[in-house]
Amino acid sequence: MISDSRFMNQKIVVVTGANRGIGFEIVRQLARAGARVILTARQVKTGKEAVSKLRAEDLNADFHPLEVTKDKSIGGLHGFINESLGKLDVLINNAGIIESTDTDVLDVPPATVRTTLETNTLAPLRLSPFLAPLLRKSKGGRIINLSSGMGALSGMGSDHAAYRMSKTALNAVTKMLAAAFQPEKIAVNSVCPGWVRTDMGGPNAERDVAQGADSAVWLALEAPQSLTGKFIRDRKEIPW
Ligand code: NDP
Repeated sequence: MISDSRFMNQKIVVVTGANRGIGFEIVRQLARAGARVILTARQVKTGKEAVSKLRAEDLNADFHPLEVTKDKSIGGLHGFINESLGKLDVLINNAGIIESTDTDVLDVPPATVRTTLETNTLAPLRLSPFLAPLLRKSKGGRIINLSSGMGALSGMGSDHAAYRMSKTALNAVTKMLAAAFQPEKIAVNSVCPGWVRTDMGGPNAERDVAQGADSAVWLALEAPQSLTGKFIRDRKEIPW
């Protein structure tokens, strides 16, 4: 448990699926800004390698394993934070998938929809209330859900149907959690990183990971606590 006053004001942030891509870059930017970051990954090996990569840049992060679809794993993370840190300031639900079988809405396999919803929507839905007791101990608890413009109803298409549905549903989860946590002033927002060059976004995407991570990091550390229940891209509100 933290008792040293030097660390009392340091923001404690958990990032899911942070061994590569946007999640890893979010950790890097948060660590640079002085936050205490818990880098989580479903595989111990890739998670520890990611932490070593940061150490080579003189940056620190703690590693803890987290498979976001498994309650037991979520429970393990809760226990670790509760015992070693006693509170949580920010939860960043970044882990996400697009299945190779994710096709047009007219022929997408229901199994693909189920698997995609499990990771992209149900995991943030489960993690948030699970970690809420720790967020309530923060002076300014925040939850940030990595969504996508592909989930915006205002610009909906028919391709990658499972992914799109999962992010639309995630946006609904954001609005509902924002309403539920309003009395306790825990801010909950969705963020679209733009189209980013990662394993998911591919090499032709418009943005590098630094640009892709920017709004999530801003929401974690700088955005006003009163900003809640919004869909954000480039630090500005966008339509659902
Ligand atoms: P990547 O595919 O590069 O990375 C995905 C990360 O999620 C990996 O670390 C992966 O771990 C992890 N992950 C997947 N499933 C699980 C699970 N069950 N438990 C724990 N971790 C898991 O994706 P990006 O970095 O591009 O995307 C990050 C987020 O941003 C996603 O939510 C995505 O939907 C969103 N986004 C991305 C865009 C882009 O253009 N890249 C555009 C809009 C939104 P592992 O290495 O073990 O597979």
